[in-house]
Order: sequence, then C-alpha cells, then structure tokens
Amino acid sequence: MSGERYVFDFAEGSAADRARLGGKGAGLAEMTRLGLPVPPGFTITTAACIRYQQTGDFPLGLLDQVWAALERLEARLGRRLGDARDPLLVSVRSGAPVSMPGMMDTVLNLGLNPAAVEGLARVTGDRRFAFDSYRRFIQMFGNVVLHIEHDRFEQLLAARRLEAGAATDAAIPAPQLEALVADYLALVAERTGKAFPQDPFQQLVMAIRAVFDSWNNPRAVVYRKLRRIPDDLGTAVNVQAMVFGNRGPTSATGVLFTRNPNTGEPGLYGEYLTNAQGEDVVAGLRTPAPIGELAQELPAAYADLERAASALEAHYRDMQDVEFTIEEGRLWVLQTRTGKRTARAAVRIAVDLAREGVIDRAEAVRRQDPEQLRTLLYRQLDPAASLTVLATGLPASPGAAGGAVVFDADEAERRGNAGERVLLVRPETTPDDIHGIVAAQGVLTSHGGMTSHAAIVARGMGKPAVTGCEAVVIDLEARQFTVAGRPELGAFREGTFLTIDGASGRVILGEVPTVEPDLAPEFLTLLEWADGMKRLTVEANADTPEDAQKAREFGATGIGLCRTEHMFMGQDRLPVMQEMILAESPEERTAALERLLPMQEEDFYGILAAMDGYPVTIRLLDPPLHEFLPDAQETERELAQALARGDEPAVARLEAVLRRTRALAEFNPMLGFRGVRLGVVYPEIYAMQARAIFQAQARLLAEGRHPVVEVMIPLVAVPAELERLAGVVAETCRAVEAEHNRSLPYRLGTMIEVPRAALVADRLAEYATFFSFGTNDLTQTTFGFSRDDAEGKFLPAYIAEHILPDNPFITLDQEGVGQLITLAVARGRSRRPDLKVGICGEHGGDPASIAFCHRSGLDYVSCSPYRVPIARLAAAQAALAG
Ligand code: ADP
Ligand code: MG
Ligand code: MG
Repeated sequence: MSGERYVFDFAEGSAADRARLGGKGAGLAEMTRLGLPVPPGFTITTAACIRYQQTGDFPLGLLDQVWAALERLEARLGRRLGDARDPLLVSVRSGAPVSMPGMMDTVLNLGLNPAAVEGLARVTGDRRFAFDSYRRFIQMFGNVVLHIEHDRFEQLLAARRLEAGAATDAAIPAPQLEALVADYLALVAERTGKAFPQDPFQQLVMAIRAVFDSWNNPRAVVYRKLRRIPDDLGTAVNVQAMVFGNRGPTSATGVLFTRNPNTGEPGLYGEYLTNAQGEDVVAGLRTPAPIGELAQELPAAYADLERAASALEAHYRDMQDVEFTIEEGRLWVLQTRTGKRTARAAVRIAVDLAREGVIDRAEAVRRQDPEQLRTLLYRQLDPAASLTVLATGLPASPGAAGGAVVFDADEAERRGNAGERVLLVRPETTPDDIHGIVAAQGVLTSHGGMTSHAAIVARGMGKPAVTGCEAVVIDLEARQFTVAGRPELGAFREGTFLTIDGASGRVILGEVPTVEPDLAPEFLTLLEWADGMKRLTVEANADTPEDAQKAREFGATGIGLCRTEHMFMGQDRLPVMQEMILAESPEERTAALERLLPMQEEDFYGILAAMDGYPVTIRLLDPPLHEFLPDAQETERELAQALARGDEPAVARLEAVLRRTRALAEFNPMLGFRGVRLGVVYPEIYAMQARAIFQAQARLLAEGRHPVVEVMIPLVAVPAELERLAGVVAETCRAVEAEHNRSLPYRLGTMIEVPRAALVADRLAEYATFFSFGTNDLTQTTFGFSRDDAEGKFLPAYIAEHILPDNPFITLDQEGVGQLITLAVARGRSRRPDLKVGICGEHGGDPASIAFCHRSGLDYVSCSPYRVPIARLAAAQAALAG
C-alpha cells in the first residue's frame, strides 16, 4: 500500500494518538490495549477528514484502506457486512480531538437490509430484536445521512406503538416493528425521491461522508467558535462492530461516571436502561434506572462494570465518564473520557485520588481551576429549592443574590440605603451607575459580555452578576421587562423579586433561599497542601476588624493593604474630617485632628488585634480631600437658601465651605492633590495617623499581644517625598515610645504606583523596607488610562478588537506594567537586598497575575478576603510550574 495511512485498527493506536484518532478513537484504542472488553473496529484519521474538507472528496486510497480494515474485522469476528446468513453490523461514530459532546453524528446498526435483517432474526432467534435494530438503523441513517427530520420518524414510531398498545418502544412486538420498517422506507422514498440504500457498502461510504460533513454542521461550527476550538482539527470516524443492548431483559445500555460528578463522592454514578440501545438513555420514553439497581438486576455484569471502572480510573488517574452496553449479560465498554465535574467534585476527587495514592498531592493541586473554585466561596442557591428560571445570561460574577428589580442606579441607591434588597437591572451599566451597584445585591444586564462594565465592576466588588441576558427585554420608559419568546409570562414591573445565579447565568423568578458556601473539609485539606507548596505569602486587603477576621478564616497571613480613608466616612467622623479640611490655620487643623486621633486609634487597635501575630500594612491617607467635602452644587443651593433666610452665620460658614471646595476642585483628581502630596503639604495629618497607629501598638503590646506594624506611604514619585514623611513617622514613633516607655518596632514602606517610583526604586529603598505595587494605579498611570473611563468607554472595544488581550485592570499587563515591576524589584533590592516586595489590589487575586508575581520574585500578594483561598491555590500552582 502506498501513500498516507488513514485507517488504523483499534488495536494499533493508543491514548497518545488523540490528534490523529480523535478523543473517542484514542480512548477506544487505549481501552483495547488495556484488555478491556471493547468491540473491535478501526478509526479513520482526522487527516482524512481535513483532506475531505479541502477537496470535497475522499483522499486517494482511503476507501481501499477502509475495505482492508473491514476485511480484517470480518475475519476476526467470522461475520461479514451484508451477509444474509449472519450479518456483521457496525456503528459509524464521529470523534474529534477535542470533546464536542452531541455536536456531530453517529449511525448505529449499519449493514442491515431486507436480506440481512432476516439473517439476523434467524441467528439470534429473535425477530423482534432484528427489526428493532433495522428500524433504528433506518431512523438514524435517515436523519444523519439523508437529513430527514427526526420527528417524522418519531411520529410513525408513536403511531405503531399506539396501535400495538405498547407502553414503551421496548414493548412493541415484532409485527408492528416490521410494519414500522415499511413505514420508514416509505418515508425515506417520499422525502428523498429515491429508495433507501440497501447496499451495506454504499451505506458505509455514505455514513463516513456524513460524519465528515457533520464537522461543519451549524451547531458544531457555533460550538467551536464559542469554545475557541480551531476549525481545522477535523473529526475522526470510528467504525466499530455493534454490540446490542436491545436483545432482551439481560441486555442494557448506560452511561456512568466513576465517581459522583456533582459531589465527588466515590462510587459509580450513572444510569442504565434494559433492553435498549445507545441514545435511548438520554432520549427515550422510559426513565433510566440508577446504576446501583444493576447490581440486583444483572449482578455479574455489574461486577464487571465496577472492575472496568476502577481499571479505567487507575489507568487515566482521574474520574472517567464511560458508555457501556451489556449484551445478554456480557459487558462491553464503548467510550471513556475524563468526566466533567462541578468545582466541589473537582476538589473532592483530587483529594481522594491523592489519598488513594493514585496521584500525588502536587498533582491534586495542579489539577484545580482557580476560577472554577471561586464559585465555592460565594453564597449559593439552596440545591433543594425548586426554580422558575426565566432566562439565562452570561455567568459574569459568581454568587447568588436576590432582590426587587430596579431599573436605575439612583433608585437602587435610594431603596438599597433604606435597607431594601434590590437588584439593579439595566440594558448595560456605565461608571455613572457605580453607586447603584454598590447599593444592590447584584446586577443583571441584558447586553454586554463577560468583560462588560457591569461584569468587571461586580467581580471587583465580589457581587453576583449576570450579563448579556438578551432574553430579558427591558423597557426603561415603562419600568418593566418582558422575557423574549415567552409572551405568556406578560410584563414584570419594577419591584418584582428576582434571584440571579452569577455562577450559571440563570435568572430566576422569586426569592430562592441561599446557603453559605460550604468550605468542605476536602477543600480545606487541598488549601493546606497548597500552602505547603507555595512560596508567596498571601495577605488580604481589609479595612475593618470584621474583614480582617474573614481574611484570617480564609487563610490570609497578614493584611497587605489596610486603607484608612473609609474610616473617615462614618456619620460621627465625616463632620470632624470636614472641619479638619476646612481649617484656616494649623491650630484649627490640629484641634480637629486631635478629635480624630482616638477614633483612628480604635480602628487600628481593632485591626491589629484581629491580625495578631501577622503584619498589617496600614496605608496613610490617600484620596484627594475634596472626596470628603459636600458637592459644590449642593452647597450653593444651601447658600442660596441661607441668603434668602438672612441667616448670617450659615452664610459665612457655607461661603467658607464653598471657597474651600472650589480651591480643592481638580481637573484630574486621579493625578491631583492626593497621596503623599497631602502628607507633604499637611504633615500633621500623617503625624496624627502615625500616632494613632503607635498608640494602638503600645496598648496591644502592654496587653501581651503581638501587633506587627507596617506603615505605608502612598503615591510616592520622588525620593525626597518619602524621606520627608519617613521622618515624620519616625519622629512620631519616638515620641510615642517615650510616652509609653517601650520600644515600638515597625517597618516603613511605600507603594509603587507611578512609573517614576519604579524608576527610582533604588533611591526609595533607602527609606523603604518594603514596596507594595499598587497595580491598579500603576496600570492607570502606565497606560495613561483612567479605569472608569477605560472600562466604561473603550476597553471593551480594545478587547473585542484584540488590541489588548485582557482587561489590564483584571489581569496584570506583563508586557508593560510587568516590566516596571521587575525593574523596581531589581533596583530596590540592589539597594536593600532584604526588601520585602508584594502587590495589593485586584491583581493580587488573579491567578495569571499571581504566577507573574511568583516568577518576578515577589514575597507576597494581597487581595480581597474572599479571593484569598484562590490566591493560595494559584500561588502553589505557580510554584509547581517552576
Ligand atoms: P456521542 O459522541 O454522541 O455520544 P457515540 O458515537 O458515542 O456518540 O454513540 C452514540 C451512542 O451509541 C452511545 O450511547 C454509544 O455508546 C452507542 N454506540 C456507539 N457505538 C456502538 C456500538 N458499536 N455498539 C453499541 N452501541 C454503540
Ligand atoms: Mg458517546
Ligand atoms: Mg493608589
């Protein structure tokens, strides 16, 4: 034989041949090698399919190779295709290198014709079985190869079932099945204008061609686009001797998982149907029985099945999804592949397999998908609840949330702040909607993808979101929505209670009870293993003792970013803060600061206590001061009213406020008067904060606790800024040390958030003993993007047009921002070899960014508390990747 080989017997291949033989073919070959009971057959390669797609015809030599393989198969089984005495029947099965379940086609029972069906009836002594097989063949061939609607066959089948008075297909007796075959043949003739092809060789050629063609059927094309599967992989074709699950009560067909794919519990999990074939399990009129019942019904076959399942698991070292058929008590395995599973099951299975010694712990950690595991950390729908699903959108941000529907952000804020649970429902969201998102339990948008504004913001906040739910048709004018394609439901008014499941994208009518995420013991075990493998320390961003507590529960060993601005926002504090900002003289300012001091001290006391023994990195005041002042327009309105009333003192006060507000107004607050710049102009603010920190530290030390204090100066760009403020902090520390008569050790560090800081990192390291990359601001300042504008306006287009691979605010831009990080680490450590370096911000919880931090030699990552477990896992995976 000359030319390329396109056909391989199952006995020739192995699991390594996936690209060439497809997943199904490689699996059949591997199982054959293992000695499992696999009906013999051969595989036509994906290369043949690709040639066929290119030329529209079978490549030269292919059919010769098929006939040769068929002869080998016939010789082996002692039966021949189309033989009127004892016919060989085959299945013709599709199977791509990448699993595309249900996307392509398969034909069973090929090789039957009027003579062969009589032969089959004679040799089996079972006329009913023979005609059941024949009618199945015509039906599948008619559908897959001749493109006659499945329904037309089903109608004829139902009519004969009715005529026979049979409850199920399996109960239709032989005469009605024979009549049905005649019905089917007539249908085919009518629909195609030709007689049904009764030559088995012609049937085989047509079926192979149809399976090749099914590579490009519309649903397969769409599926590949969705999953980013290349179009040029092609499908293999497996021609396999038939085994029959439809030969009576000791025959059956079924599917099983070697472990429970929902919970991960060990033990076979699946379903079977006696006296049935192939697809009946999923499509049939009868409800399949749980696999456990097979142990009673056909104990010997069940025992074989258990043995096969454990052999497959041991061999593939993972949970398998298996198709099987039992023919007159004898087990046949027809397919195996690595089984899909929930996050919960993924963890349980990996941990169990490691404990069973099938894989090692590193492998158990390596196998997890951190993004999938995130779903374990959110509140979830009560699995016992029954759901009225209205529509399904994109699973944009995991977690379950319910609330009354509101259609605008202001309304969401109003009702949310009044204590009502609301769900913000918008065509899409913009940065102007942030306040509404904050106040809502979750977000539902009818447009926008996984990187839309709503999706990004919600994920950042850890709020559930469903985006791109086009079926939800919103009428903002009428304040109602309808569900596309379901007019019977009518319109849903504002206030309707909906529940969204951000993990699955489901939109559910009414309130669904939710349950706490269950951190199963296996998950905790896995995380412990991960901790033993990672090099990076995982810290959390936390501003309150409650967050600090949560972070510790999730395994954080420190706080990498404790922001202090939120501490001034409360009812009791904001007025004092405003007083401080409005102060006309240093004395007035100091007086206000003195009132803030005890409050800050309590804040720091609480947080340091909650993190006892672990470092707490406290960032001194960062945002521009006008964020603490009332809106200028509002003040103007009040001023007008005061003037009208003739209220002199109020007029004077409001005029002062307005003057100050105007003086502090900025064209570009992001690049304005904030961070260390505040500290330089008003050193007394930072001095007060430092004093509060050290007094809290002194009290805790006096109580025998172990506060670990790190003071962090934000937004430094010039070494002299840091030098100045490091001096203020040191001086304050010395004063408090003297007052308490004890030494108060602390670290002083800086954030690296602007390119200039990265460039002068060696100079900064003269004063700083740690760096924390504020990668959010560093991304903004490196790109010159303001995040809200970017995400609201052009970033989605950038990602859609592939100008940027990802949102750089979610996944660190290694090409640009990453260079600044590595450069700053090198320069900083050149001056101070033991410089502690980490990142804080959203990137600290992103697996790809964490891997980058590991490779760049960082010491820690800090992220929001609910991402800590994912970061621990990702840090271990990064270490395992070397
Ligand atoms: P899919 O990829 O859609 O599952 P398959 O090629 O696996 O398609 O086949 C469809 C059904 O037919 C499955 O239930 C399979 O187990 C069954 N089947 C395929 N080949 C045979 C065969 N040779 N004998 C008996 N049943 C078969
Ligand atoms: Mg299958
Ligand atoms: Mg910043």
